[in-house]
Amino acid sequence: MTADVIVIGGGISGLATANGLLQRGLEPLVLERQAKPGGNAISERFDGFLMEHGPTTFNASVPGASEHIGALGLLENAHDLGSDVKRRYLRDQGQLTGISAHPAGFMLSNYLSPKARVSLLMEALRPRKRGDEEESIHQFTSRRFGREFADKVIEPMAAGLFMGDSKCLSINGAFARLADMERQHGSIIRAILKARKGSEPGRHLYSWRDGIGVIPRVLVQRLGKRVKTGVAVLGLRKTTRGFEVKTNTGMLQARAIVLAVQPHVAAELLEPLDVEGANAAAGISAPPVNVVFLGYRREQVDHPLDGLGFLATKDPSRIISGAQFLSTMYEGRAPEGYVAISAYAGGARNPELAGWDEARLVAETHHELSDLLGIKGTPVVQRTRRWALGLPQYELGHPGRVVHLRGTSQRVPGLYVTGNFLSGVSVANCLSNAAETAAQVREVLGGQVTGLPSKTG
Ligand SMILES: Cc1cc2nc3c(=O)[nH]c(=O)nc-3n(C[C@H](O)[C@H](O)[C@H](O)COP(=O)(O)OP(=O)(O)OC[C@H]3O[C@@H](n4cnc5c(N)ncnc54)[C@H](O)[C@@H]3O)c2cc1C
Repeated sequence: MTADVIVIGGGISGLATANGLLQRGLEPLVLERQAKPGGNAISERFDGFLMEHGPTTFNASVPGASEHIGALGLLENAHDLGSDVKRRYLRDQGQLTGISAHPAGFMLSNYLSPKARVSLLMEALRPRKRGDEEESIHQFTSRRFGREFADKVIEPMAAGLFMGDSKCLSINGAFARLADMERQHGSIIRAILKARKGSEPGRHLYSWRDGIGVIPRVLVQRLGKRVKTGVAVLGLRKTTRGFEVKTNTGMLQARAIVLAVQPHVAAELLEPLDVEGANAAAGISAPPVNVVFLGYRREQVDHPLDGLGFLATKDPSRIISGAQFLSTMYEGRAPEGYVAISAYAGGARNPELAGWDEARLVAETHHELSDLLGIKGTPVVQRTRRWALGLPQYELGHPGRVVHLRGTSQRVPGLYVTGNFLSGVSVANCLSNAAETAAQVREVLGGQVTGLPSKTG
């Protein structure tokens, strides 16, 4: 086996980068320390249920997302959201409120006070921000839409999408498109209305019968022996011909390296080669996240589960920050007559939950869901996934950190960084970043593709 480029990390970012390199005529080798590739995109079927340990949904509204999926031959068998997904729910002060998925949903619901609803509409008339001082998501949305909307809608959204805190996350880092809309159009509402004009309603969220795990599976099939599992990279060294890679199974060499690992690992591996990049990666935290998957017989649950699930406002007496009604969202998540719910707890809101034992976590989650959804009895199946390092937090200062990380390839020619901590945490963002990284590597390696022997000791 020879390799031009060693890709460190066999999650979706690493696998997709390697696939992009292969398509461009380079010979990649992916090194993954776990026994199975895929990173946190793990779909597990048991007893007729399908649990997603990480991502559940592919977000096709990211530019180019469906093209990447199409290129993998996965577009035709993608499943849209089920027809019973009619509303989104928000939990505030122990109560669930259903809000229609219609764009005017918040105006038609009494979840927000009348004053907050007027303030929401006023966004279209508010002046554009002056100056370029970085704002948190909470500051930005309070300024544009009003404080109540920021507290009761955006804060739960940040906790759900990023498992983060809207007062710490950077608007330019986490929701760069919103900041751009204000810059370009002066108002988010006006920008959305303009974008909608003449555009066809499209599919935005989808998955597959066997879950998101089909994406890494297809990538691994394409890469074949170019993916090595159980190989942990311990260190990197620059040589005259490229890089020497120290692993738990020996030394390897490559002309170029792509780091597609979590930020704390990137920080360690970059340290001896690029202190600037290493410091930037070390500044990105990823608090622990707990996924609790519970299955019930349909008749145990009073609630119609007629939505995606719910997001929750901060509440010191509760641990769930969001939940998804998986069996309503997509086919094949639970056997006939049963339902499947995934609840998320931890993140920046409750990092201390990492210290809870599994039994306590499941019991508390079941208790909170029972209260909200009118569940009787105990779950028929239960399973948890504890991510010690969950989603990377795009906190204030993140855009600057990304500039340092993207600069790694200039400071250390042949060394690239990709992954979910640069410009979007979603799987779709990871695919886009991976395609860009593969194109950059190809451009730089150009005609110098050599097929170096990969094993030297
Ligand atoms: C609970 C949860 C729910 C999510 N929900 C969604 C969702 O619904 N939709 C969505 O689009 N996104 C979602 N995401 C985000 C998305 O899943 C991730 O951002 C994406 O899968 C990250 O892929 P990655 O390859 O960049 O990183 P990872 O999946 O973290 O992969 C990094 C890989 O590097 C390997 N590695 C680390 N160190 C080394 C080393 N030294 N040597 C070799 N290998 C190493 C790791 O073992 C790992 O496999 C979710 C994430 C989580 C955690």
